[in-house]
Formats: sequence, C-alpha cells, structure tokens
Amino acid sequence: MKISDQPVLLVTGGSRGIGAAVCLSAAEHGWAVAVNYASNRPAADAVVAAIAQAGGTAVAVEGDVGSEAGVSAIFDAVDKAFGRLDGLVNNAGIVGMPARIDEITPERLDRMLRVNVSGSILCAAAAVRRMSVRHGGKGGVIVNISSMAAVLGSAGQYVDYAASKGAIDSFTIGLSREVASDGIRVNAVRPGIIDTELHASGGLPDRARELSPSVPLKRPGTAQEVADAVLYLLSPSSSYVTGAILNVSGGR
Ligand code: NAP
Repeated sequence: MKISDQPVLLVTGGSRGIGAAVCLSAAEHGWAVAVNYASNRPAADAVVAAIAQAGGTAVAVEGDVGSEAGVSAIFDAVDKAFGRLDGLVNNAGIVGMPARIDEITPERLDRMLRVNVSGSILCAAAAVRRMSVRHGGKGGVIVNISSMAAVLGSAGQYVDYAASKGAIDSFTIGLSREVASDGIRVNAVRPGIIDTELHASGGLPDRARELSPSVPLKRPGTAQEVADAVLYLLSPSSSYVTGAILNVSGGR
C-alpha cells in the first residue's frame, strides 16, 4: 500500500464520455485518479496516458460495478495502488435499446438495476468504509451521476433507465443525511442530453442532435460541462453543499 499526500478519487466508468472528462479535470485539480472501466482497456489507458502526459497521477482499474466481485476488485485495486480514498464519482451507467414497458425483459431490467443502482450503492458503501471518520478515515466526498430522466421519465424509450436514476436521486438524499456526521458530503448531478457514445449504445446514435430543439439552450451539453459541475461538488468550494441534486441540462 502506498500512501501519499495527494487526495485520491475513484471514477467508475472513467474510460469514456462524462467519466473520462471528470478524470481529466480532477487530475488537473490535483487529484490522483483511479480510472475504472468495464471492458474498454484501451480507452482507460488513453485517459491514464493523457493524465500522465499532463504531469498527473492515474491508474486504470478494471471491474464491472454490476457485480459484487467486480466492486471488490475495483476497491482492492485502489487500495493497492494508492492506499487511501478521498472521493468517489458513481458515474458508470447503461441505457437499453428503446423499448416500451411491454417489451422490457427481466434480464434487461436486472442488468440495468445491477449496474445503475446496485453498483452505485455498493461502491458508495465500500467508499464510506474507507473514508468515514467513524472507521478511522479522513472524511470525503461522493458525487452520484443521475439523469434528467429521473424527472422526465423517458416514456417510450427506457422507463426502466429513468426509474434507476430516480433511485439514485433518493439514494443521494438519504446517504447525504446518513454520512454527514462521518465527514462525507454526498451530492448528485443530473445531466440532460449530453453528447457521448451512450446514445449509440442505446441504438440512437443521433439522439443528442435530434433532441437539441427541445432543449431551452438549443444544443446538447458536453461531457466537460458535466465534469465542471462534478468538480465543483468535489471541491471545497461546495463545502456547505450536501444532499443537493444539480441539473446540468441546458434548462431541459
Ligand atoms: P458512455 O459514454 O456510454 O460511457 C460509459 C462509461 O461507463 C464507460 O467508461 C464504460 O466503460 C463504463 N461502464 C459501463 N458499464 C459499466 C460497468 N458495468 N462497470 C463499470 N463501468 C461501466 O456514457 P456517458 O454518457 O458518459 O454516461 C455516464 C453517466 O452519465 C451514466 O451514468 C449515464 O446514465 C449518465 N447520463 C448520461 C447522459 C447523456 O446524455 N450522455 C445523460 C444523463 C445521464 P467501458 O469503456 O469499459 O465500456
């Protein structure tokens, strides 16, 4: 175990999209970063290399947040690489192919809830065990990535995904109150339509562009614009903010 003075941040799903932007920004702001990925090792390695190139510290950490064994492997790797943990961004998430409720299979629902809900809760539990002053830690900060879908419902596309993000909102509120006296702040960001590969993975590669007219700011957001909000919630600038859910949605 290596322990240095640099604060350590774990970003689940840090290899691409919003998570990658969070990793790069966090490194610029002085965090050592554990860049978690599920299967795309080259993408995670590229994020780690970009951070190293800029003089920062990062490691790639493989693990599926949708399985208990995956979550254990992720935290074991963080312990081994850094020997401390100061922040967690619960960012890993999946959508499904567009489907009405009568087409949603139990297998799809199980996977959606495992990755988006159980994954975030299990990672938060593992992080709290390491960061809580109750367990001898120094305190810390957790940011959950929710979605405007939690509020809008995603009718006709993926109500299961929207429901999974509704769970993240409730979890954020409850956990923030539960661990406030453990020295841990917990907040969430609700991105709107953000230009990442998530939409293509849900079979709708043009979704961000097509939905732009429905956004008051008339464009999709960038991963960096979400990362900027996450970095605020990770930083001491938000020291009196906990239990908050910040919409980053261009007004949508
Ligand atoms: P993305 O571009 O599809 O990237 C997903 C990331 O999550 C990748 O790094 C991927 O790793 C990782 N991942 C997926 N399943 C995982 C698992 N089981 N375990 C560990 N890592 C896993 O997605 P994104 O658009 O950046 O979305 C990030 C978060 O923002 C998600 O929670 C999503 O629901 C939320 N969000 C996105 C939007 C949007 O419009 N894009 C809007 C609202 C909310 P690999 O590279 O290994 O595949």
